[in-house]
Amino acid sequence: MTIILDGKKTANKILENIKEQTKQFSKKPKLAVVLVGDNPASEIYVKNKSLKAESIGFESLVINLPSDVTDDNVLEHIFILNEDTNINAILVQLPLPQHLNTQKIIEAIDPIKDVDGFTSYNFGRLVLGYNPYAIPCTPKGIIRLIDEYNIDLEGKNVLVIGRSNIVGKPVSLLLQSRNATVVMAHSKSVDIKSWAKKSDIIISAVGKANFINPDFIKQDAVVIDVGINRNNNVITGDVDFISVAPLTSFITPVPGGVGPMTIAMLMENTFELFKIQHSLFLI
Ligand code: NAP
Repeated sequence: MTIILDGKKTANKILENIKEQTKQFSKKPKLAVVLVGDNPASEIYVKNKSLKAESIGFESLVINLPSDVTDDNVLEHIFILNEDTNINAILVQLPLPQHLNTQKIIEAIDPIKDVDGFTSYNFGRLVLGYNPYAIPCTPKGIIRLIDEYNIDLEGKNVLVIGRSNIVGKPVSLLLQSRNATVVMAHSKSVDIKSWAKKSDIIISAVGKANFINPDFIKQDAVVIDVGINRNNNVITGDVDFISVAPLTSFITPVPGGVGPMTIAMLMENTFELFKIQHSLFLI
């Protein structure tokens, strides 16, 4: 029997919990999002993040900058946000326009406000197995969803397809820290299908519709589909869900799987940074 990993339901449960906890504080957590340019997908993501923050009692601030902004202009905004004690979490919506230096801009974020966990301080601590201030939201959400359904990771063979800093690399680190045996594949990998066929769990973060078909699946494998692919107005993942789902024990849908978990983890990270900054841990 196939069980659908319901990211929407799990995310709502997490968000309700954060909303309740937030009520105990007189001050509200505040998330600032820097959006450069007019990429329609980025605009929708930022709007959703900001609405979700407000729906659980947070404050949010969106800084819209024109697409021809310079590195220095963006850095000025980041420095102001770093200094502003009312701002607890800073997110720079990626991808930035090509002329901007993404690395320099991300690195300018104060690590204690780095809600995505993308600065070298936080990412480095993740690599070393120390506690970062924040763990990247999508990988953290994937692990939380796996845990919600009591899927055991220890000793499992996991194939992660994609090696980006946002998804593939950090999720591989988190899986290793949970004692899974991880293989990372990418565009230069040879014969991914045979790796996939040996894997108890497949995490696909490629960004190609129908990339994963039944030929990749070991019977009763767990399949986590991170991909978001737009065709006209239809959103699909990397997995050909209809043909693959019957072969799996657990599978995420797209939409409604990893996506909502990512937003929930963004809110959780914002709340955690807020608590760290105010030294208000409720023990
Ligand atoms: P990315 O930076 O473009 O990385 C894609 C990865 O896939 C790269 O490592 C690339 O390999 C690999 N790849 C490309 N073609 C391949 C092939 N034919 N075989 C094997 N590997 C291949 O993308 P990303 O930021 O990680 O995002 C991946 C997907 O997840 C996108 O669809 C994105 O929209 C989605 N996403 C979803 C969420 C969510 O919340 N649901 C969050 C983030 C991203 P190379 O390294 O060799 O180029």
